[in-house]
Amino acid sequence: MNDTLFPKPVVEDDRLPRIHQLLLDFYGKPKPRELWDPLTQFIYSLLSSRTKSETTLAAVHRLRERFGTWENLRDAPLAEIEATIGDINFPEQKAINLKASLQQISARYGMLTLDFLASYRTDKIRAWLEQFPGVGPKTSGAVVNFSVLRRRALCLDSHHLRIVQRLGLVRHGDVAVTEERLMRIVPESWDAAMLDEDHVLIKKHGQEICTFSDPKCSRCPLLSMCPYGQRQVSASSSTSQGRRDIE
Ligand code: SF4
Repeated sequence: MNDTLFPKPVVEDDRLPRIHQLLLDFYGKPKPRELWDPLTQFIYSLLSSRTKSETTLAAVHRLRERFGTWENLRDAPLAEIEATIGDINFPEQKAINLKASLQQISARYGMLTLDFLASYRTDKIRAWLEQFPGVGPKTSGAVVNFSVLRRRALCLDSHHLRIVQRLGLVRHGDVAVTEERLMRIVPESWDAAMLDEDHVLIKKHGQEICTFSDPKCSRCPLLSMCPYGQRQVSASSSTSQGRRDIE
C-alpha cells in the first residue's frame, strides 16, 4: 500500500504518537526485531494467524529442520507439511496455502525467492503477494514491514483491529480499510522500524490488558483516551455502587 496516496489531515492528529508513548512508558521499549529474508517472513506470516508467536516460530524452525530448504518444503507431500505444523491453528488449510503459494511463486518468478521484491514499490509488492492463496493485507504488511525489505506498512492483526476500534481511531472496517485510515494519521516521521515497534506494543497490549473478552480497563494506560474503556469503567462502578446500595 502506498501511503502517499492518502492525504494527511490538515491539522496533525497526535493520537497515535500519544498512544505509542503511553505504551512505551507502560511496557518499555521492545527488543529490536531480527530481520529475515522476505520468503522466510512470508512463510512465518502465512502460518501465524490465530496462533501464538512462539508456536509459529517453533513450527517454522521444524519446517526448516525437516525439509532443509524451502524448495524441499514446496515439493514435500501435503500430509508431511501438515504433520510438521500440526500444533498451529488450522494446519490443514495452512499447509495447502503454503505449498500452493510456494509453487506459484516458483512458477511466476522461475525460482523460489522473494528477494527480487526489493526493487519493487511497496504497493506493487503487496499486490503481488496478495495474489497467493491465504495471503491478505495482514500477511503482505508483515512481509514488507518485518523483513529486510523494511517498508512503511502496518501489519494489523486481530489485537490491533480490536484496540483501534475500542479507542475510536477507526470505527469499522476490515484490515485493508483500517490500515488505510490509520496510515492517514501516522506521523510522516515514523519510519518502518517505528511502525514495527508500534505493532509490537499494540499486540502486547492486546495480549495482556486489552484482551478480547476481559479488557482490564481500570489498569489501562490508555484509559484517558478510550471511549470504550471509560464506558466499561463507569458501568462497572455503577454496578458496584448499586450492590452497595442494596446491601
Ligand atoms: S481502556 Fe480498556 S478498551 Fe480501552 S484500550 Fe484500554 S483496555 Fe482496551
